[in-house]
Amino acid sequence: MSSRLLTVILLACSCGARAEFSVFACEPEWADLARALVPDARVTVATSAWQDPHYIEPRPSLIAAMRNSDLAVCTGASLETGWLPVLIQRAANHNIAENRQGLFYAASHTHLHQPHDHIDRSMGDVHPEGNPHFHLNPHAAPEIMERLAHRIEQVAPAEDTKFMRALHTRWKMRWKQSQEQWRALAVGLKGMKVVVQHSGFDYLLRYAGIEAVLDLEPKPGLPPTPSHLNQLLNDPRLQEASVILISPYQDPQPAQWLAERTGLKVLILPTTLTEDEATDTLPELITHILTSLSRFSPKSTRVSVSDER
Ligand SMILES: [Zn+2]
Repeated sequence: MSSRLLTVILLACSCGARAEFSVFACEPEWADLARALVPDARVTVATSAWQDPHYIEPRPSLIAAMRNSDLAVCTGASLETGWLPVLIQRAANHNIAENRQGLFYAASHTHLHQPHDHIDRSMGDVHPEGNPHFHLNPHAAPEIMERLAHRIEQVAPAEDTKFMRALHTRWKMRWKQSQEQWRALAVGLKGMKVVVQHSGFDYLLRYAGIEAVLDLEPKPGLPPTPSHLNQLLNDPRLQEASVILISPYQDPQPAQWLAERTGLKVLILPTTLTEDEATDTLPELITHILTSLSRFSPKSTRVSVSDER
């Protein structure tokens, strides 16, 4: 038998080898958690830090990825309500559907801030379940990770459970270490006031004792308008703010407009993971956000060139 033919036979027969575990992550933070448990999983991420996670195009490549995945890990709480149902329907993956094991919603395993009993259009784009941007809550990820590990054991029994549990233990230790660091950073941030655009950083700001005094959005989910910006300009709370905090997927112009008229700086920080070394895991992202904010904290007395990294 020629060696070439042998290779072809070996490739065609995956004799004994287990199939690759495939994960569809709606947002980068869930891809990070899944990879921490199953490092060799094939992971497709539907959104990036440069996209508004509320509005994603259900592209054919995403439909195909979902069709071929074992597990979809999403935020839930209506964050993906504009695009995930379409993806699920078009992908027609028997396992990934509402109330099936293959669809994991992180929101089902954490406590959400600001739930609303009554919603109407006049309130803007409000999520009835509460603020769905909870991935930056330092208290949220450990419970979500626990449930995710359990779910992976259910949907991928072929995965090496012992190895996954060891990785999970390592992740928990690192998270705990990071929490100590965040607590220390929060001491220097408590009482700080910021201007925001949307509620993307809300959980982390609350954790650090930072108050979002004004929002560039006239109503949740609606883009800033000239009349709203003029209102903000005359709002006395603006005087108390230390910085204007926005995300890379948002149009920087409204923030810059306000900055030019107030002397405030605009701080653009990702609300989710990027490819950048400083923000490519969830704990690093949280550290990066808190560290960046501390440069603008009135309590911060040591802003020096060496800190300007
Ligand atoms: Zn939102």
